[in-house]
Amino acid sequence: MALDIHKIREDFPILNRELYGRRLIYLDNSATSETPREVVEAVVNGYTHTKANVHRGVHTLSQEATELQETARRRVAEFINADSSDEVIFTRGTTEALNLVASSFGGMILGKDDEIILTVMEHHANIVPWQLLQARIGFRIRVVPMLPDGALDLEAYRSLFNEHTRLVSCTHASNVLGTVNPVKEMIAFAHSKGVPFVVDGAQAVPHMKIDVRDIDADFYAFSAHKMYGPTGVGVLYGKREWLEKMPPYQGGGEMIENVSFEKTTFAELPYKFEAGTPDFVGIAALSKALDFMQRTGLDNIASHEHELLDYTTRRLEAEVPDIRIFGKAPGKCAIISFLIGNEHHYDVGMLLDKLGIAVRTGHHCAQPLMRSLGIEGTVRASFAIYNTQEEADRFVEAVKRVSAMLQ
Ligand code: PLP
Repeated sequence: MALDIHKIREDFPILNRELYGRRLIYLDNSATSETPREVVEAVVNGYTHTKANVHRGVHTLSQEATELQETARRRVAEFINADSSDEVIFTRGTTEALNLVASSFGGMILGKDDEIILTVMEHHANIVPWQLLQARIGFRIRVVPMLPDGALDLEAYRSLFNEHTRLVSCTHASNVLGTVNPVKEMIAFAHSKGVPFVVDGAQAVPHMKIDVRDIDADFYAFSAHKMYGPTGVGVLYGKREWLEKMPPYQGGGEMIENVSFEKTTFAELPYKFEAGTPDFVGIAALSKALDFMQRTGLDNIASHEHELLDYTTRRLEAEVPDIRIFGKAPGKCAIISFLIGNEHHYDVGMLLDKLGIAVRTGHHCAQPLMRSLGIEGTVRASFAIYNTQEEADRFVEAVKRVSAMLQ
């Protein structure tokens, strides 16, 4: 059945906004997606009707809030096909999830003579937590390079393994190039060497069906706000066998079993990793974002976004002189990073904004990748389910106009 994108758009009132006398075209979805009405309503309802702190109360409101949070945990587990909801830890986002893994898991398994493998296309959120740990422990970080089309160099990946390799952490999809890395194959190789694998799924979960058991990820991190959900909520999936062995990441309320000044024992999974009051209203609203995505259909989302990606890329390449698109790996997700001639990405982004089009400019928190491309930044347009071909046309016309104005 064909999707009715105009009907879907009715659930996103923000898309009716006007900027400088034109209807907004929102193409900054990789930074954060917009939020459908049912998610917003869940947040409003949470604050209006069920706000009480979770897990600590016998009273009805607290039990209702707890039930909403734990239902969301079960929904997330089912959404990514985790074995159990005990393997779903709520965090503030991908960044906190990756810091948790680095600090707790990395701190547990890594020693000074060890090596870990990252890739050149990592977001800073999957680089800096490892460097903070490296400053404490002193292991070596090795980096997988990429091929000219923006795909990872898998031969180089395999050749980086040696007897010191203890861990791989890799993005599932690049937030700059759109490259979708073959994590299942990469994980199988790492596991054949006895090496665990962490996946940064921030840019993959919004666009494709994720099955953490099928790919056999040891850890998988993502953010609700990039997948039609609320801000301030993220997920760390971890295999039970690791989570049970790992020390807590933060200490405080909720994560303990018994506290005394002599000795404290910790709560069972997943609470051991959830110190303090979580964003339980946001967590409950994440359930609604999953409902939205599943009702729309993950395959429908992927195919609609790919159509827009192919159409827009073809038109830009055919019609904009001097355009350079970064990232052409087969099967990439709906992200177009580009530069026009020698024009500064910031100038292009500012002018597109004046034409009512929201794109992101800059290094996209991926400075090592920018360095390897020999550039400082790009203009990035990224698509979501509610973008239309008309918007793609207006975007291409706007890029042509900006290009003519600047050159
Ligand atoms: N990893 C990737 C690939 C990203 O694109 C982002 C955000 O853009 C992050 C991690 C960090 O996500 P958050 O800021 O939601 O923690």
